[in-house]
Amino acid sequence: MPKAQETVLEINLNALKNNFGYLKSKLNTNTKFMAVVKAFAYGSDACEIAHFLQNQNVDYFAVAFVSEGVALRKAGITKPILVLHPQAINFKTLIEHCLEPSLYNPKILNEFITVASAENQVHYPVHIKFNTGLNRLGFSKNEMDLIAERLKETTAIKIKSIFSHLAASEDLNEKEFTLNQIEKFKTIAKNVTEKLGYKPMLHICNTSGILNYPEAHFDMVRSGIGLYGFGNSEKENKNFTPIGTLKTIISQIHTINKGESIGYNRAHITHETLKSATLPIGHADGIGRQYGKGKGYVTINNQKAPILGNVCMDMIMVNVTNIDCNEGDEVILFGPKNTAETLAETANTISYELITSISQRVKRIFVRT
Ligand SMILES: *Cc1c(COP(=O)(O)O)cnc(C)c1O
Repeated sequence: MPKAQETVLEINLNALKNNFGYLKSKLNTNTKFMAVVKAFAYGSDACEIAHFLQNQNVDYFAVAFVSEGVALRKAGITKPILVLHPQAINFKTLIEHCLEPSLYNPKILNEFITVASAENQVHYPVHIKFNTGLNRLGFSKNEMDLIAERLKETTAIKIKSIFSHLAASEDLNEKEFTLNQIEKFKTIAKNVTEKLGYKPMLHICNTSGILNYPEAHFDMVRSGIGLYGFGNSEKENKNFTPIGTLKTIISQIHTINKGESIGYNRAHITHETLKSATLPIGHADGIGRQYGKGKGYVTINNQKAPILGNVCMDMIMVNVTNIDCNEGDEVILFGPKNTAETLAETANTISYELITSISQRVKRIFVRT
């Protein structure tokens, strides 16, 4: 790879292919795979990632919001796209772009039927979400009759799938809770199927669900974080490769005397002579202030350089006192070796938050290594 000459997020499509292959190897051949590409494919690039996976014969895509689905359609994605959290104001746009809504309460069910009918739709595919314990979005099981009633009154929609979402699939201490969610889902699915008289697809597993609950794969699984290279456990991380490497360069090196300060608010006071490197990446690029003051670090020539003082909007200063380095040298924030998960932990957060925070002004580069 050529060395970075500015801040870039390098995205390795071969790693994506391997992660996808590993997840698929956990499934029966007839289990469908939904690639979750919400939030710019977890901070990478939804259109590029979706194109790549579409060519790899993925079955389905999921996004959070209608605008994300529209962007995929405009980029030429033709596979079905589930919109996990649509808002009624966008239903007409959703239908125009053949996106498929998740409907999660009576209000949004009614609103969608109204718009679909007004648009003269017949059997428009929708997905019904049930709450089995996450308590975020979803019908409760005692709303099944209501759904069945509404469906008898209209031909505008047809239920393509019934799904739910696990609250703690990565946490084996919560196995009992998760098994209970799966049991609830089975009961709901059975009842709904009986009431409808046809059998929609069933799905409940996210990445950690795929890995930890093979008995719950049903007709389809939904994976995000695994595709991007994180297995949510030490054991599983070994089977994945993070697809993103966030790189930058050293803009300037300073020698700072004892008693001086570094950065805004003088948040770091030097106790002895120190060598600092200033890097062109800051909180506006996704490295939040919580990584400052010695918590987070970058890697320069294979050595750790902790962040000094406060993170600025467009820059950070790091401690390179004991590192042999020069202005212009490449700097790694995270990648397959020094992972986003490890960096995220320094600020008490998780890989998901760090990688989805990398802002749009960071240039994306695609490689196959
Ligand atoms: C984001 C999301 C997923 C993907 O979860 P991962 O842990 O990233 O695999 C699956 N299902 C729903 C409903 C989601 O919101």
